[in-house]
Amino acid sequence: MKFKGIVVLEFNRKVPDDLIKELPKIIDYLNSKLLTKGVRDLKEAGRVIDYQASENKIEFTLETGRHVRIHNAALRIKNYFINNISPKYKIGVRNLIIRNALIELEGKYTVSLKLPFIKSIEAKDDKTIILLQDISESEIKKPYIDRLLKLLQEKEARAKWGGKAEHWELIKQSQVKFPKPKFDKDPNKILEEIGWIKRFSIGQWFFTPPFTYLINMLKHFFIEEVVKPLGFHEAIFPKMYPLEVGLRTGHLKGTINSMIFASFPISYDISVYEELIDYMYVTDTAPPEELQKYVKPPTHFLCYAQCEPFYQFFSREVLDDKNLPVKMYDHSGPSFRWEAGGLHGVERVIEFHRVEVVWLGKPEQVVDIRNKLLERYEYLMDKVLDLEWRWAWVTPWYYEQAGIVEEKREKDINKPGTIDFEAWLPYKGPREDKKAWLEIGNISIHGTKFTSPFKIKHNKGIILWTGCSGFGSERWTIAFLAQHGFDPRNWPRKPREYVESNPIPEPIRAVTYPKTETGKKLLEEIMNYFKSLKK
Ligand code: ATP
Ligand code: ZN
Ligand code: MG
Repeated sequence: MKFKGIVVLEFNRKVPDDLIKELPKIIDYLNSKLLTKGVRDLKEAGRVIDYQASENKIEFTLETGRHVRIHNAALRIKNYFINNISPKYKIGVRNLIIRNALIELEGKYTVSLKLPFIKSIEAKDDKTIILLQDISESEIKKPYIDRLLKLLQEKEARAKWGGKAEHWELIKQSQVKFPKPKFDKDPNKILEEIGWIKRFSIGQWFFTPPFTYLINMLKHFFIEEVVKPLGFHEAIFPKMYPLEVGLRTGHLKGTINSMIFASFPISYDISVYEELIDYMYVTDTAPPEELQKYVKPPTHFLCYAQCEPFYQFFSREVLDDKNLPVKMYDHSGPSFRWEAGGLHGVERVIEFHRVEVVWLGKPEQVVDIRNKLLERYEYLMDKVLDLEWRWAWVTPWYYEQAGIVEEKREKDINKPGTIDFEAWLPYKGPREDKKAWLEIGNISIHGTKFTSPFKIKHNKGIILWTGCSGFGSERWTIAFLAQHGFDPRNWPRKPREYVESNPIPEPIRAVTYPKTETGKKLLEEIMNYFKSLKK
């Protein structure tokens, strides 16, 4: 990364001849001292390569590196003039502008022309040259330029890494438990056929009492066997978040393509809507394009990762050792994801449910809690639910330093990163087929990913970390049914006992529901399995 540009200092009067005569000496000082201060590699410093004085201006043509970037250099020069030159020549600095600045990057990148300061972009050999608009002093002092440069650096890093496929590395797996699967049908299809679930809208379902009962059974085991024994307490998190929160978590920058936004009405005065109401009255339609005129631009988004409010809660709070670690879980409402064409049954939906577990502490506490959760998760998957499962590390093992991106040798999981939990779905094919496995949940150590942007602090300055784990209720339920089927007599002991001591609620039956004769028959068959277990 290299910069070039002209730094213009404007004075309150004509530049005196004596000052013009002194300029070569001043430039010497700038180049040997001021613009190299704190820089080890001189290539990364700043350098005045030309100058010109006319009327009330001095223009310095600069080349700078990554360390003293052009805007930093401009401020250093201005401050030097204010403190050393102005008093001597009785001349005031009135203005500072950077003209014709350009950034030269190694490699080829696409950069939006809509970004602040960018005038044009050019690809030349294996370089990208970005021309900037004039930058005023007040703009130099805002953090925009720094962020723009950080963005470009990240693009550079991602481009070097991004060519590789998504990272996935097996770290642990269960035994093969069902050499011959107990069940090989798609539970989603059966659930719909017997009427336990009914399509509501795109990617949304109505769960009737028997399916809700099954979801609650899976959640019950997770909460009782994993979450509570480790001392987590339940909280109720909001489910609609201001855009600001998504900016801090990074979701707006990383996953905006799958987020669902919310808009407030333009007015509380119902008469404002009269025209629209009359239109709907007469046409009996609800036209989205018309409605759009009556709502404000989106200011919120619907629950996406579910742990966002936890970081917002602790934002700008200071904790001490007595308060740490903090452990909470939330299952008070749905999460929303726009999944475009990828919907399937209740496995991949737009509105889904999850138990979200989140914790905050010193790094060693956060790692320790993650490891204890892993132990309990393994117990749940193996001993309670008797599933065929596997875990994968899905964070690239790379590190970034001074613009170099490399794969790491040592593969240590006690550090920031994510583990995905997957379960085998026999109905989707043999175990060897990657597509026959479903991600049912995950667990992450975030490091300072959230404590830093949300400014969550320790009173002694110790760095704090967070971790979270998402238990996708629909996905665990489908995985359980896909491996064990709908006959609880074939289920592992604990789920069977659950059915014995908590009778399943009656399903919804109507003349027209379930829809088909086979569905009606299958429903009675399955209800009989459940009832035959009743104590
Ligand atoms: P996938 O790769 O399957 O899309 P993801 O990586 O997007 O999953 P995460 O963002 O890690 O999922 O979300 C955590 C958990 O939430 C998942 O493990 C899963 O249990 C659940 N989940 C995510 N998206 C959906 C969805 N569209 N429908 C149902 N559950 C979901
Ligand atoms: Zn989370
Ligand atoms: Mg996804």
